[in-house]
Amino acid sequence: LFISFEGIDGSGKSTQARRLSETLRNRGLNPVLTREPGGSPGAEEIRALVLQGDPDRWSAETELLLFTAARRDHLERVIRPALEAGRVVICDRFADSTRMYQGRGGLRDKVDALHNLMIGVEPDLTLLVDMPADAGLSRAKARATDEERFEDFGLALQQQMRDGFLALAQDHPNRFRVIDGNRDITTVATEILDTVTPYLPA
Ligand code: C5P
Repeated sequence: LFISFEGIDGSGKSTQARRLSETLRNRGLNPVLTREPGGSPGAEEIRALVLQGDPDRWSAETELLLFTAARRDHLERVIRPALEAGRVVICDRFADSTRMYQGRGGLRDKVDALHNLMIGVEPDLTLLVDMPADAGLSRAKARATDEERFEDFGLALQQQMRDGFLALAQDHPNRFRVIDGNRDITTVATEILDTVTPYLPA
């Protein structure tokens, strides 16, 4: 079972991914909690190349190739072996983030072409943790560090990303579930667990 979490910066998806992983572990499952960009040693090196240092180091196209390379490594080394071993994989961001972030500025067709060519895998279930753009932005700003780039898109772009994720969810209703992330952490976690439970191995 392959589950991804998606959402704008500051949506709380990483907290919820961790909570879900802990809950499944307490229930005797042996989930793999992983993240993108990164998730394997090679992909974490690529993450540092993209998210640290000069934000203008790479063109948008090169950045798309780097994210795709990172995903390919993560898929080969971590996700696919875990799925083949029958484990639940919980991934904090996956290809939908690339559709949104690297796909902006007219690159969406290239994102989709590269995905089909080099990745070709979708999660069984994608939990979109939805959050108003302004609330997400202030939460993301509050915890931003100097080491990694935090893309302060400003409110308009944050709004555009939120709308884009919601549109993606509407286009793929079988895979996506939209979770209202603008509630207390435990309420959100309970709804997520209820959503995931029917997918779990008996
Ligand atoms: O999810 P996380 O906080 O680790 O993301 C780190 C940064 O990378 C965020 O600012 C996010 O917007 C950006 N990102 C991106 N393209 C992706 C995934 C994340 O620009 N495909």
